[in-house]
Amino acid sequence: MNLNIKGKVAVITAASRGLGKAVAEALAAEGVNIAICSRNKSAIEKTGEYISNRYGIEVLSIPCDITKRKDIENLKNETIKKYGTVHILFTNSGGPPTGKTLDFKTEDFRQAIELNLMSMIELVYTFVPYMIKQRWGRIIASTSISVKQPIDNIALSNVSRVGVIAFIKTLSREIGGYNISSNIIAPGYIKTERVENLIRNRMEKEKISYEDVSGDIIKNIPLKRIGKPEEFGSLVAYLSSEAAAYINGETILIDGGMYKGLF
Ligand code: NAD
Repeated sequence: MNLNIKGKVAVITAASRGLGKAVAEALAAEGVNIAICSRNKSAIEKTGEYISNRYGIEVLSIPCDITKRKDIENLKNETIKKYGTVHILFTNSGGPPTGKTLDFKTEDFRQAIELNLMSMIELVYTFVPYMIKQRWGRIIASTSISVKQPIDNIALSNVSRVGVIAFIKTLSREIGGYNISSNIIAPGYIKTERVENLIRNRMEKEKISYEDVSGDIIKNIPLKRIGKPEEFGSLVAYLSSEAAAYINGETILIDGGMYKGLF
């Protein structure tokens, strides 16, 4: 299948590692010009260099904390200076701390909403004018399976991510006429450094083996394995493409069938 996105420009946030990096690689492999960001300058530059060498393309690597408006403004200025416009926006951020509802203060919820919801809204407001002007755009917001079924012990994440669905679904109805699709991806378990760390933390805490912890996760996944970052990257590349032009306003799970609901 020809994805037909060679030469388009994509902004990918929280991309020094994990899901964001996998998306950057998948789009780079399709010949998309990419601007990647994360908070740490040396980490994002290292990832940019790796992708540039591996795929033989230039990569714009910008340090940017997506909870800070001035950092997003700088990300926009540098991207527009280099590429002139933006066609694809993939929004992603770090996860908030784990814990149960009453472990937290109200201020913790405010911070989680800044990290997972407000940053995405700020990014959309920043880049959507370019998509409207050129009458072509793809907005893909990454969330979590928790938007379909709350997960135990991640109260901040469960609460702060659902607004992303309402925002993107609303937006998809308003700007579709400009040939802009807006969709949400909801991953289950994908084997990034974060998930590796979660497994190792549980091993230490519960004094059990790597196989015990991963077996406990996998028993709830019909495909009997944790997902690969490149599988997540492929889905985003597809949604970014001409081939997926008619998919709009959807929340797409990538979870090996872990979600048990019918809808
Ligand atoms: P990760 O820890 O491997 O990578 C997170 C990335 O986000 C890093 O590049 C980090 O530098 C960057 N980042 C964090 N805060 C940032 C900020 N304020 N501004 C800019 N960059 C920032 O995590 P991951 O596994 O890739 O997950 C990414 C997101 O997806 C997280 O929110 C996570 O909770 C969520 N998620 C992941 C999975 C999974 O299985 N990996 C499943 C569901 C949801």
